[in-house]
Amino acid sequence: MSMTEEVAQHVHLYRGIADTHTHLILWQTKEMDWKALFQTCVDNGLELALDVGTNTDTFEERLSMVSQFDQLYITDGLSVSKSELPADDLKRRLGELEKQVAEHRGKGKLIAVGEIGLDNHFEYGGVQAQKELFAAQLDIAKQFDLPVVIHTREADPDTYSMLAGAKLGRAGIIHCFSSGWEWARKYLDLGFYISFSGNVTYKKSEPIQEAAAKVPTGRILAETDAPFLTPQKVRKYPNWSGFIGYTYDCIAALRGTLPEELAVQVTQNFRTLMGLTK
Ligand SMILES: [Zn+2]
Repeated sequence: MSMTEEVAQHVHLYRGIADTHTHLILWQTKEMDWKALFQTCVDNGLELALDVGTNTDTFEERLSMVSQFDQLYITDGLSVSKSELPADDLKRRLGELEKQVAEHRGKGKLIAVGEIGLDNHFEYGGVQAQKELFAAQLDIAKQFDLPVVIHTREADPDTYSMLAGAKLGRAGIIHCFSSGWEWARKYLDLGFYISFSGNVTYKKSEPIQEAAAKVPTGRILAETDAPFLTPQKVRKYPNWSGFIGYTYDCIAALRGTLPEELAVQVTQNFRTLMGLTK
């Protein structure tokens, strides 16, 4: 059996559910046919998904992919790993980002800048280069009045102070939230939404689980970050949007609600944040 058929056997979704962070082009690196599998998601109730960018040079290809499904939206941005590129190359890519955002915002598919941020787990180009790349893209988001999708790993103090200092016109998403409630509360105070991924289902994730239980109903989101961070129950497989139901089950149990209700709520939250009308 192919990987596509194998993962499809374990699809677990609810009607109206959303996956607020996925990387469709990377599904293919795990031998999963993204188009067949996304169709399976739609057939099983997935209402929307956000395909998140990490590099400007894949934007056109990704745009042609998301254009094939009404349920798909897209972001554009340079992930923190790009901070290790030479300065002139980065400058060129930032110019490219600005051009792509200017051309595609307001046309229906491109709705946010990301993923952008800071990562002290991996050094990449070093703290200074990471901060410069992050700041430049916060400026672009602000200039075009778009929400941001934030990646932050072992870097909350700097991420928080840069977001607070940026005085963004729109809020955004703290993606794959992996800290505890104290940090969640600070990001919430800045107006951010908190998105939980498959790692909330893992053992030793108590601080993340505590945050998932406490984030206000109107500000919670859920994502796969596929093909990474597969939920515990199906962890031997690569991740895809069809597995997001397992993460909703976990979060709903922590909050004492039903996954069906959480699904409706998250989809509504995402629409509110992104200014989408149904
Ligand atoms: Zn991601």
